[in-house]
Amino acid sequence: MTQEQLVQLDGVIQSYRSGERVFTAIEDVDLVVQTGEFVALLGPSGCGKSTLLRIITGLQRPTGGAVHYRGKPLRGVNPHATIVFQTFALFPWLSVLDNVEIALKARGVPSSLRAPRAMDLLDRVGLDGFESAYPRELSGGMRQKVGFARAMAVEPELLCMDEPFSALDVLSAESLRSDLIELWTSGNIPTKAILMVTHSIEEAVIMAGRIVLMDKGPGRVVADLPVDLPYPRDRKSPAFNHIVDRVYGILAGQTQAEHLELGTAPGEPGYTRALPHIAINDLDGLLEHLADIPGAHADIYRLASDLHLDSDHLLRLIEGAELLGFATIVQGDITLTPLGETFVEAGILGRKEIFAARIRRLPIFKWLFALLRASDQRKLEWNVVRTALELDFPPDEAERQLDTVVDWGRYAEALAYDDSAAILVLEPGAEPVSTRAT
Ligand code: ADP
Repeated sequence: MTQEQLVQLDGVIQSYRSGERVFTAIEDVDLVVQTGEFVALLGPSGCGKSTLLRIITGLQRPTGGAVHYRGKPLRGVNPHATIVFQTFALFPWLSVLDNVEIALKARGVPSSLRAPRAMDLLDRVGLDGFESAYPRELSGGMRQKVGFARAMAVEPELLCMDEPFSALDVLSAESLRSDLIELWTSGNIPTKAILMVTHSIEEAVIMAGRIVLMDKGPGRVVADLPVDLPYPRDRKSPAFNHIVDRVYGILAGQTQAEHLELGTAPGEPGYTRALPHIAINDLDGLLEHLADIPGAHADIYRLASDLHLDSDHLLRLIEGAELLGFATIVQGDITLTPLGETFVEAGILGRKEIFAARIRRLPIFKWLFALLRASDQRKLEWNVVRTALELDFPPDEAERQLDTVVDWGRYAEALAYDDSAAILVLEPGAEPVSTRAT
């Protein structure tokens, strides 16, 4: 199929005026979306994702730059695009069927055709049997499906979605994501391109064919990555994890070669970087504090007094934040990276997911996961691992390293530790990106 260009943004700028001050929300964004593309817009809160979506759907006119749709300048609301929001506004007094029919009515579909067309749409999103139910009788996931059916009723050429799964519980979100991918890949919907705003890295990699990464201050595009994986995608495949790690790397502002930044695995030539002994709760506290400061940026020596921490403890936390790619340190100042901001904004599960992806790249975890995978029942005695670590660290430090590894690994739900038997177990799904140690 030849691709046609739908959206074209050239040098788009959006600024807002508040009193005398002008605030640039997005600066100089170029973006093209073609037919056949499923594009995810990913980045921390405030980087301008929703603003871009509003500009593309014509709900908002940018301050500067050009917006074209199918080669023509976009004026007013884009008739070829529809937006699905986080929580779809259904009319509570209308049945599910009527909620979809109303969109058909708005499009001028004759009344005799509306009911069968609406039934068909509900069928496609898996809601047959619920036509006469009212929104209050439905779960959040089902209500969102009605939202999708209504969006489809408009037969949009471009389907825009603004964090469509973020208000749902984990299971409903997962099933709705697969339903949407199935609809998209089956060609059963008239939609020619999808543009989805998200701040979940895994969601972008599981769904999109291309990820446009944004950063803020001011909002701009920092990378455009193809996701060349067949559907349905396997979260455990090395290729999937490789892309997830690339996205993390870009958001974390990775600059040095990994072996310099992270050290080498225990037992390998080269220096094995020790993990700083920190509790994840304390790290959360530091990152949350930084996120509250304008610019997410602070002078390290002032932080110690603001947070009432002794400097040793603070420096360990900062080292942890840097090692995990949540912050960068330049000349005594610490700044949250977009990944650090994403971590702070994420819920408990989202934080664990990010944390798990980040520790998977540390040589000491890669090494331990590889040992565990090679062991009987993916289990090892604590003592055996500690002895192995003593090749690289003095005995006390080897023990402390292992305590930290267990603590972080448990938080990431990658490791389980049976305290009474002193046995470490690799959790299912905790596969490293590769078994290489560096
Ligand atoms: P995102 O969707 O990535 O979270 P938004 O597009 O909502 O980001 O917002 C980008 C920036 O623009 C934010 O700093 C936000 O506060 C600001 N902003 C958005 N809409 C307005 C508005 N109507 N007036 C002033 N500032 C706004």
